[in-house]
Amino acid sequence: MTGPAFKSPLDRPALAEEDAAHVSIHPPLGHLQVRHEANRCLYCYDAPCTRACPTHIDVPAFIRKIATDNLLGSARVIMEANPIGASCARVCPTEYLCEGACVLSHDESPIRIGDLQRYVTDWARATGVKLFTPGPGSGRQVAIIGGGPAGLSAARELRLLGHAVTVFEAKSQLGGLDTYGIVPFRLPAAVSLWEAEQVTALGVEVRTGTVVGLDISADTVLSQFDAVVLACGMGYVPELGIPGEDLQGVWDAIELIERVKMGEPVPVPGRVAVIGAGNTAIDAATCARRLGAEEVVIYYRRSEAEMTAYPSEFAFAKSEGVVFRWRCLPVRILGGSGRVQGIEFVATDLVQDANGGQRVQPVPGSEFMVAVDTVIRAIGQSRRARLLEALGVEHEAGVVKTTDGRTNLSKVFAAGDCTFAKGGREAMVVEAAEQGKRTARQVHAFLSGQAQGGV
Ligand SMILES: Cc1cc2nc3c(=O)[nH]c(=O)nc-3n(C[C@H](O)[C@H](O)[C@H](O)COP(=O)(O)OP(=O)(O)OC[C@H]3O[C@@H](n4cnc5c(N)ncnc54)[C@H](O)[C@@H]3O)c2cc1C
Ligand code: SF4
Repeated sequence: MTGPAFKSPLDRPALAEEDAAHVSIHPPLGHLQVRHEANRCLYCYDAPCTRACPTHIDVPAFIRKIATDNLLGSARVIMEANPIGASCARVCPTEYLCEGACVLSHDESPIRIGDLQRYVTDWARATGVKLFTPGPGSGRQVAIIGGGPAGLSAARELRLLGHAVTVFEAKSQLGGLDTYGIVPFRLPAAVSLWEAEQVTALGVEVRTGTVVGLDISADTVLSQFDAVVLACGMGYVPELGIPGEDLQGVWDAIELIERVKMGEPVPVPGRVAVIGAGNTAIDAATCARRLGAEEVVIYYRRSEAEMTAYPSEFAFAKSEGVVFRWRCLPVRILGGSGRVQGIEFVATDLVQDANGGQRVQPVPGSEFMVAVDTVIRAIGQSRRARLLEALGVEHEAGVVKTTDGRTNLSKVFAAGDCTFAKGGREAMVVEAAEQGKRTARQVHAFLSGQAQGGV
């Protein structure tokens, strides 16, 4: 099927968020660039880009459809493989995934797959086309705990397979970190809300503002549904565990980004110290710069070589004026009249530990003070162990133990960040989307087995 022609940049309907204060750092491709990129693609057989994409989008197929003006067909190819394909187009670290595998990256530049995917999904958002219809009803009911990328992906797939789906979501809107946690200048909330609409339009019951374990008990969910998919992600940033964290001006990176993304007032941060050097720290630091911070310094207890932020993110932060200081461990936050006024660090050495790894060791007498107005914690995310305990699901330090999406309880499955262990697969939107999809198929197999008198 062919979608409406999309012939010039002027045909492209305006998207509200592009006019808003949350200005995108990455402008979309224009029509001529799209044509050029689509025609540059070699449409490889057994394409390495498709293999490198965790959701295995048939990249050559969606690009070929762009080249023949079939944007509806192209959008279907993308979104069928990846129900979170619009967000992924903007936030996937493509240089390590599809574009990194493109055969053209050896001789010239890789095809701009993420940007082409964005062009198509932006078109689908702007035109409001219907992409999918639910499968014939199975009579089985599945609860999904968490309406982020993993939960939505599972919900979409389960509806296509004909199961009734109820999503319980603690927040007032769906989308998880795509809606609330990824900085608006990389991913406007409108994009993930559109993806959520694609899912709810299939007849999914949504109970937002409902915390499982608080507003509805885990036992009630377990008893009322034929299967449960746990897709609760991770929590906010844990505390640093140093004196002064209760002072005004100390922020959790994810809470700060959430406030900005939801358009809630955030005080101008002045001089900012960000603790941690992962991608969340980069997002918080660049967010603070855009809020008008006069100086933003990222402090990391290890060295540049151990930093977990992607090199492209590191380069972006530096281009935004963010400064990095290595081998500094925060000791205490100092304040006056209840507000942050400074932070004390100690320098660190990295010493070999018994397991061949490196241990951070403070250097005695190397303490130093820095005057700051804001401290942002960005040292990872906490786990939702209490919910797992309430459900009776086996976990290790809050990471759900799974085999192919199955937990220790026969009717409970899990997908996304809640299953990602430190040092294991990377917590990424595209990974959560793939896991949600695959877990839904496991749920389907379980329910089908039950229907035939199995399991
Ligand atoms: C600051 C930041 C920046 C990031 N940037 C990128 C990026 O650029 N690219 C990328 O690929 N990935 C990025 N990520 C990672 C990505 O956002 C996650 O991997 C992805 O969102 C995981 O999806 P999920 O559905 O498993 O969890 P989440 O997105 O966390 O969704 C879980 C949902 O479950 C809900 N929930 C939790 N407990 C309950 C309960 N008891 N009852 C009901 N609902 C509940 C939560 O409210 C939430 O909506 C970033 C993460 C952070 C924190
Ligand atoms: S979902 Fe991400 S990794 Fe997959 S093709 Fe799209 S941009 Fe590339």
